[in-house]
Amino acid sequence: YPEDDGMPLRPPASRGQSKSRNSSVTGRMTVDDFEFMEELGQGSYSTVWHCRLLATGQEYAIKRIDKAHLKRHQKEQTALAEKNTLVRLGSGHPGIVRLHWTFQDEWSLFFVLDLARNGELQTRISRMGSLSIECVRYYAAQIVDALGYMHSKGVIHRDLKPENLLLDDAFRIKITDFGTGKLLDSGGEPTKTFVGTAQYVSPELLEHNESSKSSDFWALGCIIYQMIAGRFVFRGLADWQKIKQLEYDFPEGFDEQAQDLVRKLLVRDPDQRLGAGPSGSPYDMKALRSHPFFASINWRNLWSGPAPPLE
Ligand code: ATP
Repeated sequence: YPEDDGMPLRPPASRGQSKSRNSSVTGRMTVDDFEFMEELGQGSYSTVWHCRLLATGQEYAIKRIDKAHLKRHQKEQTALAEKNTLVRLGSGHPGIVRLHWTFQDEWSLFFVLDLARNGELQTRISRMGSLSIECVRYYAAQIVDALGYMHSKGVIHRDLKPENLLLDDAFRIKITDFGTGKLLDSGGEPTKTFVGTAQYVSPELLEHNESSKSSDFWALGCIIYQMIAGRFVFRGLADWQKIKQLEYDFPEGFDEQAQDLVRKLLVRDPDQRLGAGPSGSPYDMKALRSHPFFASINWRNLWSGPAPPLE
């Protein structure tokens, strides 16, 4: 069993459990345990397949990562970060793609993930131009709830965007792509690496190369704006000055409560961004959940009730 790339990959489930469910002599999973069906998509160093575990009939998405490509582009750390953050997040939240097992062969690493059958939220926004305010409320609330869990586990995503928000069978959000995820081991101090996607980049990342939990809330503000307006609030690095000076406007008819929420998320000072402040401050997670835009959200059945029709 090769572990030649410094990435010891073991099934995160208990060994006993995985042993009883697969046929390989070593007790580890192999590709032979799965039926590979259609390709779901490709990333820069990976391909994702719709698969079925033969022993149970359960369906998953399997991400196959090419080891040679990882090495050539020195991306081993990205794959390792993705695995480590997903392991830390475990099965604790319905809004985050769960990593069930990992295994490898000579050429590839395999991540067995929750299947999100309905693709990326980005595709829906592009297809429909923009989303109804009910949809925006619902998806924004699900992102807030998942972020609350993720941050409580000491994980920051750092590349939150509609391409990384997948939709499951019931059209509920599953956050994915933790390749740029960061594990905070002590406190929540900012980290000093430039990662992310230009349109969702926060001022602190632009100015000081720093990101923290709060940068995920900046991205949330950008995403809410985009879902309603059907366009980016900032076009990316070309808008560097505009991002720093918070120079943007709302198109006519943009829901007023949503405007207020976006204004409270797109705040220069990361500590005064709604959702990101310390518990008990006017900017804490409780204050974000209590924002009037979310007044009609029932947080208790957010993951069990039906999604509003995507329109
Ligand atoms: P990059 O690596 O360049 O950032 P990426 O993160 O999109 O790209 P992958 O994670 O390999 O790369 O995903 C490739 C495609 O597969 C995605 O565009 C997505 O639509 C699809 N996909 C990824 N994970 C799942 C999943 N769990 N369920 C369904 N489809 C998925």
